[in-house]
This record gives sequence, structure tokens and C-alpha cells, in this order.
Amino acid sequence: MKVAPKANNYRDAWAGDLRGDDAGRTVRVAGWVHRRRDHGGLIFIDLRDRSGIVQLVFHPETSGSAFAAAERLRSEHVISVSGAVVEREEGNKNPNIPTGDIEVSVAEMATLAEAETPPFPVDEDVEVDETLRLANRAVDLRRDVMLKTLELRHTIVKTMRDVLNEQDFLDVETPILTRSTPEGARDFLVPARLQQGSWYALPQSPQLFKQLLMIAGYERYYQIARCFRDEDLRGFRQPEFTQLDIEMSFVDEADVIAVMEEIMTKVFALVDGFETPAAPWPHMTYAESMLRYGNDKPDTRFGMEIHDVGALLSGSDFKVFQGVLDGGGVVRAINAGAREMSRSELDGLNDVVRIHGAKAVAPIPVGEGDTWAGNLAKFFTAEQISAVNAELGASAGDLLLFVADKEPVAAAALGGLRLELGQRFGLVPEGAHSVLWIVDPPMFEATGDAKLPWTAIHHPFTAPTTTDFSDPGAMGSRGYDLVLDGVEIGGGSIRIHEQAIQEQVFSVLGMDQEEAERRFGFLLHALKQGAPPHGGIAMGIDRIVAILAGRDSIRDVIAFPKTASGGDPLTGAPAPVDEAQLKELAVKSTYIPPQPTA
Ligand code: ASP
Repeated sequence: MKVAPKANNYRDAWAGDLRGDDAGRTVRVAGWVHRRRDHGGLIFIDLRDRSGIVQLVFHPETSGSAFAAAERLRSEHVISVSGAVVEREEGNKNPNIPTGDIEVSVAEMATLAEAETPPFPVDEDVEVDETLRLANRAVDLRRDVMLKTLELRHTIVKTMRDVLNEQDFLDVETPILTRSTPEGARDFLVPARLQQGSWYALPQSPQLFKQLLMIAGYERYYQIARCFRDEDLRGFRQPEFTQLDIEMSFVDEADVIAVMEEIMTKVFALVDGFETPAAPWPHMTYAESMLRYGNDKPDTRFGMEIHDVGALLSGSDFKVFQGVLDGGGVVRAINAGAREMSRSELDGLNDVVRIHGAKAVAPIPVGEGDTWAGNLAKFFTAEQISAVNAELGASAGDLLLFVADKEPVAAAALGGLRLELGQRFGLVPEGAHSVLWIVDPPMFEATGDAKLPWTAIHHPFTAPTTTDFSDPGAMGSRGYDLVLDGVEIGGGSIRIHEQAIQEQVFSVLGMDQEEAERRFGFLLHALKQGAPPHGGIAMGIDRIVAILAGRDSIRDVIAFPKTASGGDPLTGAPAPVDEAQLKELAVKSTYIPPQPTA
């Protein structure tokens, strides 16, 4: 610890900070019984506090009544002891812990609390059922791995704040009870008792407030902001999560990106051995990422890139490919390399692409010379075969995997397949990291719904690259995302600062003036009050900590997370409430609990 504790009735030293040169001092330490051993008439206790562990020794002669009390101590009991720090005999020193040269010879002890037998061991890092861990979080958080992770989280957030404070950013809080702030998810709603029939929404992000702060002239804002999105909880998602939220005035993309590169360079440097390429990090366009990697968060730590081979194969006798091409679709392929895959493994690949809506993968093994083996080979001319081999860098023994479908489906299917094979064949080099910016995303994406044909790719406050709204599908936007090891860790944009453009964007999204006024009137109004050009970004802190701490789940880097079904096994939230509470809020539940079957 940085500072010794102020002496009081419980302690005057941190257990884990005692060293050889403290020998001879009388200290008082307090904490939990980490482990206990009885040895040749002596009792040894490893005492744990946040700083670490120190060994206590109880002697039948010198420890007085503390010796008898120590016989009753069990794991996780809470004690305070005083005694002399003594150097251990040479053979008894433990080089594996920082306090291993000494022990505290106990003269007096107070047992402050007893503990039930813990539901799982605190002193070893064993695999424990997650629900049990979450339900007993106070015990789970005692485990060293959890403490280390939350310490890292603290240091990461502190580093972010330090860089921003240095550069005149102001930390401003924004409301939790607010109106809907669309980030593409469902809102969590809170009924308003004082205005019955009306609801607050929990913020999906502080987006609109930080824009208002720019209009207010605050120039540089940041906040460690809690955001709430009611969506299905896949892997790296939680219903409430934490962002580093930033906004700046009179800036372009390069200004925001430079600030973030400085922050993230310092954050990555916090973890020994986490070596990323030095900033400035490369920029890849959204279109290129979708083509080469099949998604907008490419894992560039390995190759096996996707190639469009439709033009090279057009006019072939293979009806499946030709039919798709004639229908305006694409044929794309990856070279999976020299892989031995059984028939059933190849069939299994179909399941991977089906998740993305594709029908099947067409596998073609490359034979000797410029030939293809397998039963599809006969449909293609020698020129087609050699052109595709050249495009894919294929040689004898390689396995080529083709998907023919509508463009977005083929892209996503091969993108998913590439990641699956990358994992299966261990293609990511040990310790490798890739960082890049994805830039120039489209402004809108077609929904396929005739009533509301467009949705914003980022959010509706992102500035388009053109003021020509005649073909929304052709409009670019001034967005940028930061991708680390195939995970989107942050994203932002230059914003719309002209009210007329903002209204046009709302209108493409199917909001007439009246609706836009009702939902975002406060923004549209502020945009008429002297809005500077501005832009910003938000970084997903939970994801960043998880990657840096090497944890697969963000639940392991959040002190009190929710499970995949949105529940909290610790508090039992969410939970039914009393009828009386609902009545007070003028809310009626239409939920009918399932009836027990007789
Ligand atoms: N509000 C955006 C988000 O939460 C980030 C941004 O554009 O600054 O994703």
C-alpha cells in the first residue's frame, strides 16, 4: 500500500507490507484467516488484508490466552493481533511471498468475527460455478485474482483520468433519469410517480448531454459514465456498463483520434508484456474491413482473408454460383491453407455459416499443378481455376472455402468462418495484439422494412460526409471505431452541428418533424443557439479491462455484474414488487405467472 495505516485499536501496519527490516518492531495487524496450520505444538495462521499476507505464529508459552483462541480459528474468521515481527530461521524463509523473511509472534489477539465455512476456497484459484461465485460475491471478491483485476481496473481508469485532466478536460456528470438517447438498443424505463403515466428512460449513453455541453462552450468534457441498454446479453455485453465518454469542440477526426491514442498507449503500457504496435494506429475503411474480414471489427492478428472471386468465376457451369451472381449476389472465398478435414468436419462448417444466414460452404481442395480436386472441379475452366488460385495464393494441398450469397450474408458467413478456423487452428500468434481504426462507415444501413427503410449505422447524431440526401444508402459518415484484437473497444464520430442537417437525418430515419420535435426538440433547439463543430468518442471500459486482464468474461472485471439472463444472483434483482408500490406509480402489470401444472 502507498500509505501506512493510521494506528488505531485494530491495526498500525499492513500485513502484506512487513519486510525483513521490520524485524524487532511490535506491530498490530488485522484481517482474515487465510490459512491455518498446526505444527509441532505451534499454530501458524496466514493473515490476509488487502495488502497481502503475513504469517502469524502462536506459541503455547508466549502467546498466552491467544493460543487457546487461535485453536478455534477457522478460515475467513476476522482477527486483530499484536506481536513482535521476528526474522524467520534460514530454512523457514519463504521466497515466494514478499513477507516471507519474517513472521509475527503473537502476544495478544482479538477475534472480531467468525465466518461460516466458505462456499469455495479463497486461498486457491480453483474453478467454481459462476452462479455460486456471484451469489457469494463478498467471498469471491476476496480471491487474489479478483482483487488484482479490480486493482487493474482502478489503475486503467485513473490513467485515463490523468491524461484527460492534464489536458484540461472537465469531468461533468449527466443524468441517469432522462429521456431516451438512441444508441440502437431498447431503453430501460422508470415510471415517474410525480407525473403519472410518464416515464424516464435510463441513458443508453450521455450522447446528447455531452453535445449540449459543447454547445455550452465547455470545449473538452469527459465522464466515466454508466450506460444502460436493454438488449440480449451476448459475451461482452451487460445491461449496465461503463464507458469513458469524451467530447471536444472545434475538432476534426484526427484531433479526437490523437487524444485517444495517447490515452490508450498509456493504458496498454500498464500491463507488462501487453505489447501493441506503437501509435498512430492504422486506419482501415469500413468497406475494406467488410470485404477482407467480413465484419467491422477485424481481427488482423492472422491472415486467411476473404477474397471476392465472383468476377473470376462468372460464366462457370456451376449453377449454384452462377445463379447467385445472376441474382446480384457475390461469390467469396478464403484459403484455409493445408488442412486435413474429414467429411464430417467439412459438413460442420455449414453450421458455422448458417448462423449468419448462408446456406452452405463449398469446399474445394487444390490438387497438384493448377488443378482443383473434388466433385465441384469439373464445373470450372482451367483459366478460372488458375485465376482463383492466384487470387487466393493457393497451392497444392490447400483447402479453399467458398460462399455464394447476397453480399452482406456472404461477408458475415465467411467472417464467422474465418474466426472459427482461426481459433480451431490456433492461428493467432501467442502474445500478438492488433490495434486499428475503422473509418469512413456508411451513414445509413437498409433495414429491409418498407415502412422504416433506414437505420443509422452509428447513431443519428453522427455527421454525414455529404449534404446530398438523395440516396441515403450512398452517404458516408464521419465515424471511427477503435478495434483491439477483433473487439470493438470504442467508437465515436464528428457530430452534426447544423440543425437543418439533423432534421434531414431524422427524416431519413422515418421521423417526421413533429416526432423529431417531440423526442429531440431540446437538441434541435440547442443546435439553433450557436453550436460549434464538435466530436467525441466513448470507450468500453469493461471490455478494455477484460482484454488487458486476460479474462474471457466482462463479468470477471465488474465488481457486481449481472448474469446472461440479466439477473443478479446476489441481490435477487430483478424482483417482483408489492402491489402497493405499483399502485403508487399508477402502473399495472399484465404479466401472468406460469401456473403450476397439476
Ligand atoms: N455515444 C456513443 C456510444 O455510446 C459514443 C460516441 O459517439 O461518442 O456508442
